[in-house]
Amino acid sequence: MQPITAPALQQQPRFFCDEMLGRLSRYLRAAGFDTRLASNGAPDSIILSEAIHEKRWLLTRDRLIIERKAAQDYVILLPDGDLDNHAKALSSLFELDWLRHSFTRCLVDNNLLVEASLEQRERIPHHSRHSHEFSLESVRVCPVCSRIYWRGSHYRRMQETLFRWQGLLGSTDNQISVIERAC
Ligand SMILES: [Zn+2]
Repeated sequence: MQPITAPALQQQPRFFCDEMLGRLSRYLRAAGFDTRLASNGAPDSIILSEAIHEKRWLLTRDRLIIERKAAQDYVILLPDGDLDNHAKALSSLFELDWLRHSFTRCLVDNNLLVEASLEQRERIPHHSRHSHEFSLESVRVCPVCSRIYWRGSHYRRMQETLFRWQGLLGSTDNQISVIERAC
């Protein structure tokens, strides 16, 4: 089976998160952005050289990295604050579309997902098939780690966050109704 791709996907910015930004890396992948996560304990010099070699923006909270000469064109120092602050900073820099390619990548290893086979779909527990968004046709699988992705409660929570970052959700009060209309 072929990976789910679109021409515009190739134009998207690519990212390399330092090891402290694991949660951000998962959300960037959930939004479909090609995102690597640094290995635990990897030296700054290695992270930076890999980011430059792969033409990725290195995202970090580490001020020491930006003092390196080679870092100037490749490193984005994220502001203080939580995940929302980091997403807001990236949105203002890149005008990111958080929804256009959402849920096309494995959250764990960044590979593009493919359609799940009938056998793989059958592995989804029956008690997980009752959510509003669930459909067997939308089930995807990672061709590398074999993790199966479907539209359950975890998907819905991440999607709510992506909707909020896209500016489609204001308060938590109207999140569910907006998503139901969007689907
Ligand atoms: Zn995977």
